[in-house]
Amino acid sequence: MSEHFHYQDNRLYAEGVSLEDIASRFGTPCYVYSRAALTEGFYQFSDALKGRDHLVCYAVKANSNLAVLNLFARLGAGFDIVSGGELQRVIAAGGDTRKVVFSGVGKTEFEMRMALEEDILCFNVESASELDRLNEVAGSMGKKAAISLRVNPDVDAKTHPYISTGLKQNKFGVAYSETLDLYRKANAMPHLKITGMDCHIGSQITETGPFFAAAEKVLLLIDELAKEGIVLEHLDLGGGLGIRYHDEAPPAIPEYVATLLSALKGRTQKLILEPGRVLVGNAGLLLTTVEYIKRGEEKNFAIVDAAMNDLMRPALYDSYHEILPVKRGGSAAGTYEVVGPICETGDFLGHARVLPIEPQSRLAIMSAGAYGMSMSSNYNTRPRPAEVMVDRGGVHLVRERETVLQLYAGERVIAD
Ligand SMILES: *Cc1c(COP(=O)(O)O)cnc(C)c1O
Repeated sequence: MSEHFHYQDNRLYAEGVSLEDIASRFGTPCYVYSRAALTEGFYQFSDALKGRDHLVCYAVKANSNLAVLNLFARLGAGFDIVSGGELQRVIAAGGDTRKVVFSGVGKTEFEMRMALEEDILCFNVESASELDRLNEVAGSMGKKAAISLRVNPDVDAKTHPYISTGLKQNKFGVAYSETLDLYRKANAMPHLKITGMDCHIGSQITETGPFFAAAEKVLLLIDELAKEGIVLEHLDLGGGLGIRYHDEAPPAIPEYVATLLSALKGRTQKLILEPGRVLVGNAGLLLTTVEYIKRGEEKNFAIVDAAMNDLMRPALYDSYHEILPVKRGGSAAGTYEVVGPICETGDFLGHARVLPIEPQSRLAIMSAGAYGMSMSSNYNTRPRPAEVMVDRGGVHLVRERETVLQLYAGERVIAD
């Protein structure tokens, strides 16, 4: 748990603001982010990278709320985007598009045009056919696209198979053995400018070894290219650093950065990183209210007003989120399956949790700042939660709760 969420007199607070008050004022379910926690994470990167030419490109998909993007933009961040929509968000949030790197396996021509118009820093290209398309699109606009190739270093990130991306069998990046040839090909294309090399091996990685191994493999390729006169300006080592949800012990940001810098000893290329989860995950929680307590023959259920559509990670990855009572003491503790109201057996938020609760009790689902709201859906015609950011004792509504009308505003019935 971030130190910015803490108990005082058995009540849970976010940066000194009572979560019970936030729930009463904004309703539940509601995402709560701590500005101080977000800022501190970013500073840990910049401090660890001080003295080194670098750019921290926050991975927008982890949490794409404009207030979060705007905060990082003001701290000097660049952005790692995976769609044209995310580029629009960066612009709307006041981000600098010249600090944007564009990742993703399926960039459309439209998205390429948009990014070229905005003069983004670099396209992280993932295939030979993408090189061809980008060369054509840039040529038609009279532009040169800055590119790096996303190399698949074939190292095992030792994480959940759904979020492991750097193995041969994954869809991401270009095969290690084909990388040099593709750089030669790109080098001969008139509307591309090679500026870097990129890799991203997965997410929620909790040891430094895979990062070091990937960096070393990428550096071998960089040296080969240099021999052929293809000199790179930057090296992008992606994101993927894990956080503590339960009992994981991931390296801290300074240790992670030190590992990367030790692999890069003697290199002068600008270092780009694309952290997502580690910047936002533990800076946010999802506030929910217990609707019913249902006593079953084998298990007791706490049915809450948040569900898998609001926070998909437990249903999708069977992942663990700590669940804390907003008020400790008072009610007697019981063991509960914490579940949402959605018509799916997979709609759970936690199994066998010991909680002192009764109907109307509030719960905080912790570590929900990353891949929470950004992966949410409207399944069961559930409007998505409000989002608030606490900041120096104040609370800001940074996204209004969706309304049902908004959900079907674009729909039409057939007239006859
Ligand atoms: C998702 C993603 C990231 C961020 O990953 P985290 O695990 O959230 O740090 C960075 N780079 C790319 C290319 C991604 O797809």
